[in-house]
Amino acid sequence: MNDEFKTLKKFDAGKGREGFLHSLPALEEQGLGKISRLPVSIRIVLESVLRNCDGKKVRRKDVEALAKWNAKKPANEEIPFVVARIVLQDFTGVPLVVDLAAMRSAVKRIGGDPQIIEPLVPVDLVVDHSVQVDFFGSAKALQLNLEMEFKRNRERYQFLKWGQQAFKTFQLIPPGIGIVHQVNLEYLAKGVLSSQPSTLNSQLFFPDTLVGTDSHTTMINGLGVVGWGVGGIEAEAGMLGQPVYFLTPEVVGVHMTGQLREGVTATDLVLHITQMLRAHGVVGKFVEFYGEGTESLPVPDRATIGNMSPEYGATMGFFPIDKESIAYLRATGRTDEQCAAFENYFCAQEMFGMPRKGEIDYSVDLELNLADVQPGVAGPKRPQDRINLPALGETFRSLLQKPVKDGGYGMKDVDLGAKHLVHLNGSPPSDGEMPSTDKSGPSIEPGEERNKAEMVNNRPTPDTAKELKDSAADPFHHGQSQIGHGSVLIAAITSCTNTSNPSVMLAAGLLAKKAVERGLRIDPAVKTSLAPGSRVVTDYLDKTGLQKYLDQLGFNLVGYGCTTCIGNSGPLHPKIEKAINEYDLVAASVLSGNRNFEARVHQNIKANFLMSPPLVVAFALAGRVDVDLTNEPIGKDKDGKETFLRDLWPSLKEVRDAMQSALKPEIFRKLYRDFADQNPKWNEIPSSKGDVYVWDEKSDYIHEPPFFQDFSMEVGKIDNITGARVLGIFGDSVTTDHISPAGAIKATSPAGQYLISRGIKPEDFNSYGSRRGNDLVMTRGTFANVRIKNLMVPGIEGSVTKHYPDGEQMSIFDAAMRYQKENVPLVILAGHEYGTGSSRDWAAKGTRLLGVKAVVAASFERIHRSNLVGMGVLPLQFLDGVTAQSLGLDGSQTFSIGGLSDAIQPGQQLKLEIENKDRQKRYVPVKLRIDTPIEIDYYKHGGILPFVLRQLLARK
Ligand code: SF4
Repeated sequence: MNDEFKTLKKFDAGKGREGFLHSLPALEEQGLGKISRLPVSIRIVLESVLRNCDGKKVRRKDVEALAKWNAKKPANEEIPFVVARIVLQDFTGVPLVVDLAAMRSAVKRIGGDPQIIEPLVPVDLVVDHSVQVDFFGSAKALQLNLEMEFKRNRERYQFLKWGQQAFKTFQLIPPGIGIVHQVNLEYLAKGVLSSQPSTLNSQLFFPDTLVGTDSHTTMINGLGVVGWGVGGIEAEAGMLGQPVYFLTPEVVGVHMTGQLREGVTATDLVLHITQMLRAHGVVGKFVEFYGEGTESLPVPDRATIGNMSPEYGATMGFFPIDKESIAYLRATGRTDEQCAAFENYFCAQEMFGMPRKGEIDYSVDLELNLADVQPGVAGPKRPQDRINLPALGETFRSLLQKPVKDGGYGMKDVDLGAKHLVHLNGSPPSDGEMPSTDKSGPSIEPGEERNKAEMVNNRPTPDTAKELKDSAADPFHHGQSQIGHGSVLIAAITSCTNTSNPSVMLAAGLLAKKAVERGLRIDPAVKTSLAPGSRVVTDYLDKTGLQKYLDQLGFNLVGYGCTTCIGNSGPLHPKIEKAINEYDLVAASVLSGNRNFEARVHQNIKANFLMSPPLVVAFALAGRVDVDLTNEPIGKDKDGKETFLRDLWPSLKEVRDAMQSALKPEIFRKLYRDFADQNPKWNEIPSSKGDVYVWDEKSDYIHEPPFFQDFSMEVGKIDNITGARVLGIFGDSVTTDHISPAGAIKATSPAGQYLISRGIKPEDFNSYGSRRGNDLVMTRGTFANVRIKNLMVPGIEGSVTKHYPDGEQMSIFDAAMRYQKENVPLVILAGHEYGTGSSRDWAAKGTRLLGVKAVVAASFERIHRSNLVGMGVLPLQFLDGVTAQSLGLDGSQTFSIGGLSDAIQPGQQLKLEIENKDRQKRYVPVKLRIDTPIEIDYYKHGGILPFVLRQLLARK
């Protein structure tokens, strides 16, 4: 038991219990620094460093350096942060368990004990990313989507069940229960944790801290829990007892004052903050909210703000612990002991209560008056592009014609009034129907039932179609619509960002109620869905009687999972897709999610607007985004009278009244237990047993990755990279979804062709995200986003490149394989913010497996850079002002990187040699973006996994 600084103290843990803690006030008394003036987030990390100080993994100087954190000039030191637990979602969790299984296989092959590979901290995996909106707008949508999910993911779920029995510290929450961050907030997080060290007679208490394999892990910051998203690779290291290393951050303090005005939601607030902090620049920093205004926000609002930290670029968006934190823990059914321990622990550490201005030293002080926040939306391509509600119509119209380089759609001669008639009845349109440009209004009669176009969209299996018919739902109900630029075709109440927040969910229900009472309808072309992050939402929407109004508008429950937020919006009606393509329509989605990059929500929807759940309902009713809903009518009521948003918007009092039924501790306790029993379909899945997984060559979901083939204890030498070719040249803001898409697999893509060659039909492809347990699919899917633009082939979108020296055009995967045969190493050239977006380990793994040795970019997103190092790919950064374009690079050159040896230092300068076709050479300085000494070790070992495996084997 470590007590290097003699800070172990007794404290009253509440409810008659006595506990121990590593006291930060006691550390301050030793004169190590003004610890009580440190940001609360830094103090929580400091406690972990102090408690884990063993002289090896964590050294005395690590504690001293962090205790002396300098607000204005944080030390350029890496912090070894040992987290208390790990959370995973299934897209990233499956490959992680695959890697653990592959490590066990490797250990067994070299004659070791496979059981040395075991998570050393508790791991919770929530299966939430696999449900897709195949069925919607009907009472059976939930059940049918769940059935499709189980059908598609059976092999993955079998594998996860193996993992559940093979690893002791691994808890799995099956599909249909909720979304990882909402489940974390409502159930998994404890505020403080405790353990029973053999040397103490009472429990040792310590803050609940974590990392998760999803960038929105930061949602838990709203409860005062330190945690953020890491790549799967770092999470694996964390699980295996390695610290998560990060550079000492700056902490931006956001001092909140005032109160939100009537009609302004938590979503409006987070979009405001996202714009404000993006403009300020908080990448790689902690953000800590404090002050009277912060104190007035309930935890669900704080969690919404924490959730979108990746969108404003921060490592965390942290809220100190106060009475609201305890109240939330209590309201969500945590035990009295947990609540008491949470409060008493932070009181004893002198960290309880919302700090006031001047009490803490922040690197930067920002002010935010909550009263300044206005209703708005964000989009159409980036979450930080906030638009005040009245300006949306005007902004959309101007973006249609604005050049693409300025964030527009570059359309010429746009006729916004042109509408195209689409029949949604499942039968092929007669000649002349599709080309219609009828400008009259929608022909849906009041009272006509919502179209069940989903049955046509989704190619139901004969079984499910029959079942629906048997259940008297009419799968081929007739309807028609007129769509054009700005038509809303997807309206999704989605994402833990907002579905964890009862105030906005109830506001959506109240707005739906008023709309239904006035006889308003939603156009059948709009694909409506409601996918909350926990069953608690259904409970309070039912209890308040609001779900039935949402149902009547088509916002039936489609599942408990990420759905549209992760791009699992499911297909649109084929005739709608045809019309979009035929008329090159800039159609819109409206969603309460946090991301809206191109092609994320749906491949054919180009304009995606983030907004609060009530606004999602409102825009679904309006059916278009080229509108100012603060002035123009939303539609006509049953008497033909114009209805405005203000007629439907619920008052704060109405929302508050409805809230009385929202947070009931007994409901949380009832719904968060015996998960498997609550989902019989999970129990029906068979699973194999044993310590080592028996890989099945027939599986196209789970495949042993090649990372540990030929594994030995010998560490290679770092060497120069010579004669490399360029696989792709990309511009700014290439996202991890561009590099490794999570969504649909195109039949014509290398991954699609591979699956077809394995006898899999396109309708059974499932998504890339669901096939992350199979490296053979994922490598083919690297750089396979249909919207990626490789500047080596100007004017072409998609996964295309040129192979040199012949200049032949081909897919990126084919070119990479050809280069591998020719023994030619590869590099990627990119602009600013390379790898922005969700943390995605396959973006780094796929890059490595394509044979890429280095990525040279103008700048990197934090997690992706570290994942590249974690996979043994070198990140290099052009010096300020230099880009592939300024150097005139077109992909025909060869590249060599000199100065690479075992003696490299973090951040050192290296020389990039560029050789033109005519053999002319020039040299460009680049910065090595290996940022910490431990990363040098990872790179030396060929990545973090071989590094950890060698360490574990060496210990035995
Ligand atoms: S709902 Fe969205 S933000 Fe939440 S876990 Fe799923 S993908 Fe991530």
